[in-house]
Amino acid sequence: MRIILIGPPGAGKGTQAAAIKGKYEVAHISTGDMLRENVSAGTELGLEAKGFMDAGSLVPDELIINMMRGRLSQPDAAGGFMLDGFPRTVTQAEALDELMDEMSLALDAVVLLDVPDETVVGRLSSRRVCSSCGAIYNTKAHPTKAEGICDVCSGGVIQRDDDKEDVIRNRLAVYHSKTAPLVEYYDKTGRLHRVGAAGAGDAVRRYLESLKDVK
Ligand code: AMP
Repeated sequence: MRIILIGPPGAGKGTQAAAIKGKYEVAHISTGDMLRENVSAGTELGLEAKGFMDAGSLVPDELIINMMRGRLSQPDAAGGFMLDGFPRTVTQAEALDELMDEMSLALDAVVLLDVPDETVVGRLSSRRVCSSCGAIYNTKAHPTKAEGICDVCSGGVIQRDDDKEDVIRNRLAVYHSKTAPLVEYYDKTGRLHRVGAAGAGDAVRRYLESLKDVK
């Protein structure tokens, strides 16, 4: 399976991808996680990306496309992948189509996780992540058992700098201007599936799992 998850920040793309990657035995590829790893490791890419990320803006297409060109040619992506956070602009989507053509691969589905802006702000401002293993929590809907400690690996659980409210508002504005046009891009080629993702994640998970039967 080769699936793209699109949707505003906080739609649940990372949570859903992590939950179902075992079922599909595909690589879960999150550009946000890859960039954060580069920032932590202090790589050249990380240094270039950090300012954009802190402001809630998009990292330039060229950097992202080069990073993804390398990532999609890794052995673990050969058996399929679930892309979370990429593409985020029409330029990135066109580059991905070209890359897939070069590799003689096709996308199975592009799934839009549809969530209203107010829900996004509420969810992201209460989102917490493990700084060690990346597990995702929510102070209201899914808190850690012990405050600030990851249930999975006992790492420190923190709030991402870009989950502060002013940055969330900028990320949403960027989503509407740069990423929402992808909905039409994929819809006009019949590849788009929409799923309401404002409620608890079970319905979305069932929907994603059902894509296997469609294939
Ligand atoms: P995410 O974890 O997907 O919310 O991504 C966190 C941040 O990384 C975003 O706010 C952007 O600054 C950057 N980012 C992640 N993916 C992309 C992408 N495909 N294109 C440009 N910037 C990205």
